[in-house]
Amino acid sequence: MLACKKCMFLTDQDKCPLCGGDLSKEWQGMLVILDWETSKVAEHMGIRANGKYALKVR
Ligand SMILES: [Zn+2]
Repeated sequence: MLACKKCMFLTDQDKCPLCGGDLSKEWQGMLVILDWETSKVAEHMGIRANGKYALKVR
């Protein structure tokens, strides 16, 4: 799985499906957002879609 360098979204596609940003193999930690509208973590990180996110992307 690859992580978006811009929004940290984890995907197995060629480009980030959320923002179209570049992807990186160099990422650490995983955060799963099930309901971004009620998640404090999502709000804090500026996440506006459900899915898996990396905590660190290089
Ligand atoms: Zn992205």
